[in-house]
Amino acid sequence: MIFNLVIIDVQPVFAAEPAENGVHDIFTAKDSTPLEQFKARVLNRILYLDTEIDVSDLNIAPNDIRYTVNGNHLTGIYAARAIVRQNPFYSTAATTGFPEFTYKDNGCVATVKYTYNPAWTQDFVKKVIAGYDEAMALIKPGDSDFAKILKIHDWIVKNVSYGMSTPYYDFAVGALGNRKAVCAGYAQCNQFLLGQVGIESVYIAANTGKKEPHAWNLVKFDGHWFHVDCTWDRGLGVNPNVNHTYFMLSDAELNADGEHSEDWKDPAKGYPSNNLCSIEDKFYKDNKDIATNEQIAANPITIKHEADSAQDYQTNNREHWRTCPAGVEVGREEHTGNPCAVCGYSVQPHTVTVTTNGSGKASVDSATAGGGTEITLTATPDAGYHFKEWKALKGDVTVSDNKFTMPDEPVLLQAVFDKIVKTPAVDATCTKAGNIAYWSCKNCGKYFSKEDCSEGSEIQKHDWVVKALGHDLVKVSGKAATFDDDGCSAYEKCNRYGKEFGKSVIRKMSARLSATSYTYNGKTKTPSVICSGLTRDRDYTVSLPAGRKAVGKYTITVKGAGDKYAGSKTLTYVINPKGTGIKKPAAAKKAFTAKWSRQSAKMSKAHITGYQVQYSLKSNFKSAKAVTIRGYRKTSKKISKLKGKKTYCVRVRTYMKSGKTTFYSAWSKAKRVKTK
Ligand SMILES: [Zn+2]
Ligand SMILES: [Zn+2]
Ligand SMILES: [Zn+2]
Ligand SMILES: [Zn+2]
Repeated sequence: MIFNLVIIDVQPVFAAEPAENGVHDIFTAKDSTPLEQFKARVLNRILYLDTEIDVSDLNIAPNDIRYTVNGNHLTGIYAARAIVRQNPFYSTAATTGFPEFTYKDNGCVATVKYTYNPAWTQDFVKKVIAGYDEAMALIKPGDSDFAKILKIHDWIVKNVSYGMSTPYYDFAVGALGNRKAVCAGYAQCNQFLLGQVGIESVYIAANTGKKEPHAWNLVKFDGHWFHVDCTWDRGLGVNPNVNHTYFMLSDAELNADGEHSEDWKDPAKGYPSNNLCSIEDKFYKDNKDIATNEQIAANPITIKHEADSAQDYQTNNREHWRTCPAGVEVGREEHTGNPCAVCGYSVQPHTVTVTTNGSGKASVDSATAGGGTEITLTATPDAGYHFKEWKALKGDVTVSDNKFTMPDEPVLLQAVFDKIVKTPAVDATCTKAGNIAYWSCKNCGKYFSKEDCSEGSEIQKHDWVVKALGHDLVKVSGKAATFDDDGCSAYEKCNRYGKEFGKSVIRKMSARLSATSYTYNGKTKTPSVICSGLTRDRDYTVSLPAGRKAVGKYTITVKGAGDKYAGSKTLTYVINPKGTGIKKPAAAKKAFTAKWSRQSAKMSKAHITGYQVQYSLKSNFKSAKAVTIRGYRKTSKKISKLKGKKTYCVRVRTYMKSGKTTFYSAWSKAKRVKTK
């Protein structure tokens, strides 16, 4: 059986329809058009040997049932016949003659009646579907195209033995149902199963090297066609190995052993030819069983692409290359010479000229160049300038990194240099940012870390700013104030420049008494301690002396207290004896007798040692003389050896001796007396 190029047009099937008597649908409509629905309907219902296939629900007119074979556009029953017989699953296995239509009132087809071959029985179809289900069970969702091709090949080669002792041995259904076939059965079975999983393939019919008719497949993978010969990979005999000798081969690989001949290349046959590219690393080559999913996953497939030597080179100004028959680029390389010794392409040279704006030097590595050549430029600024950019004065050129690709026209480029200004370095302080030394261009706003603005020296503002250092603070303890020195609070101090934070002065303490002298009256005398601004028993304490009643000198001790105050100070006060009143002195010759009031024993016994009388010719007691009279009971004293007839002013006070100290009362009023 010889078949022409058939590309089947059904969608992949993974999940089987619910079983009906062991038989289920295996054809899926390509889309929802009535024609595709019609195709799937009749192809599926032939599996059930329907006497009349009901298509009335599809509303399809006979002329809309179409099929094209070898450029012949068929319609009606001719198309309905070809739809079945051109299908690699059925071929001429199931039906004979022409189908018959019955019609609906509107002229659309109601039923299709095919005539079945006597060997096409429900029991046989069950065996076919069982074989089909077994093969399809190998295919998993997510399988790569190559995995599908390999698994289907391996299932057929493992399960279908070579022979012609069973019906349908040269059909796909014979291979699936009886598991025995010849080359035509193998090749149609492979083509059908591949089509079911969405892989395109071609049935090849040609002579072998021994001039015997043979059939195999060209299978499309990654845009390329590869030869697959399931028959010869199975080999003869009852249970030969699974082989991969003729699996996914280029044209050259297929006939390397001369067994297949080149007959299939006859242009009249119209098979895809010039299949130059080959599978690299054929990991399955020595497999003797069905490839496992693990093995497939571990071995990604790559294709070695071969340029079609009949093809003209494709070129640009720099390179030539070709593509493989599937359009993958191969062998891109630079031209060899001008014109190119390989592809003959010649490049027209143009001039490359460089100039400057006057503040540096410019040069180019080639004074003339053909389009596509990479040109390298050099620009060196004078001192005090930086190189800004290349400006194209002539030619459509974009320079980047001092390089550009030569266009097909002359080029004139100007190196543009800008003036730069130095900013000296300024040290940062605790609170003020500084900067490193840098050079800047007013024109383009760029900054450079080096005076020559050399490559890599361009910096950003944040690169030249030196941030303020911030204070380096240490804690300093406070110092208590004393009566002599100010103190201060605890504070923080910056180690860098000595600035102090949070420091407050505690003024030195002062203390005084509300009174420093008293007159004895038999009662306790305690002056108040005045420490202005301070609080007693918080900021200071007071220690009082004992007694404080008798005539004498007393000392009060004031001490700093709490965190803020320390040190001590003594304050003194005195209690003086009580004074006495003066009486009129009695005049005498060049003398007078001073008289005073007598003190009560209670007041005077322990508190008056005696009296002191003072007299003077002047009322302000200038140059006065004094006489001390011991004994508190005394009440008069004669003062003699004075001048006669002179008026003396006289006054008196008490005194008290306490240890080495003598305490005096206040003076009495003064009395006048004129001596005789
Ligand atoms: Zn290729
Ligand atoms: Zn070339
Ligand atoms: Zn600039
Ligand atoms: Zn600081």
